[in-house]
Amino acid sequence: MLIYDKVRKKYGNFTALDGVSLNVNAGEVVCLIGPSGSGKSTLLRCTNALETLDGGEISFESRPLPKTEPEMRKVRQRMGMVFQSFELFPHKTALENVAMGLTTVRKMGAEEAHKRATALLTKVGLADKTANYPANLSGGQQQRVAIARALAMEPHVMLFDEPTSALDPETVGEVLSVMRTLADEGMTMVVVTHEMSFARRVANWVVVFERGQLLEEGPPQQIFEAP
Ligand code: ADP
Ligand code: ADP
Repeated sequence: MLIYDKVRKKYGNFTALDGVSLNVNAGEVVCLIGPSGSGKSTLLRCTNALETLDGGEISFESRPLPKTEPEMRKVRQRMGMVFQSFELFPHKTALENVAMGLTTVRKMGAEEAHKRATALLTKVGLADKTANYPANLSGGQQQRVAIARALAMEPHVMLFDEPTSALDPETVGEVLSVMRTLADEGMTMVVVTHEMSFARRVANWVVVFERGQLLEEGPPQQIFEAP
């Protein structure tokens, strides 16, 4: 579904990605792990063209990522992105945050959009919080709204950039559990995370980054078990 071929990315003289090649197959959960600053987030941001490449190529669903912004915007609609910092609209309720893409991008009627948004908020365990504004939700709840918002667009792949790193420890589990449910349903997911137990239990494939390169990759039992 995603093919990275010798991807290179530089920031000035600093090489953030130094020839990264990787396959993400449909229905798989691929976890990117490794020290801070090793290039994991950069790879995700290159995937949805928030960053441009300095070399190599990324293909999504058998086509190289387009070079122009209007074309890329269409491709991005098939990618769901979840950030560390939630990025919800503060002046919209949970329901409005989830429904917004449906009414604006998909041109869905308000009633249908609200129905769908309600179903998605129920799916992430927030049926009783649809009218809450982000300020009146915990970090874990806000992140679940962000996941529901991404799912509303029916993405073919979900990209998670340290989705639990900004959360209070007691709410990390509820977000990981929603992610695990998605994985069990067959969603293709690329997850940058420091949650090793999630990587060990949920990932099909674990990729260890170091200084912009892949140090190691393999199934979790290979990466995490002593030789
Ligand atoms: P190559 O030697 O061609 O680089 P890979 O390391 O990509 O091969 O793959 C080696 C094996 O691991 C293959 O059987 C391949 O199907 C499998 N594999 C590669 N990438 C993934 C992935 N993201 N998830 C699961 N299996 C994978
Ligand atoms: P990770 O996700 O593994 O923590 P990142 O991909 O965020 O790593 O960053 C890789 C490296 O690239 C880091 O050293 C970081 O400081 C650098 N970097 C990331 N974004 C920028 C930027 N916009 N400008 C300059 N350097 C950057």
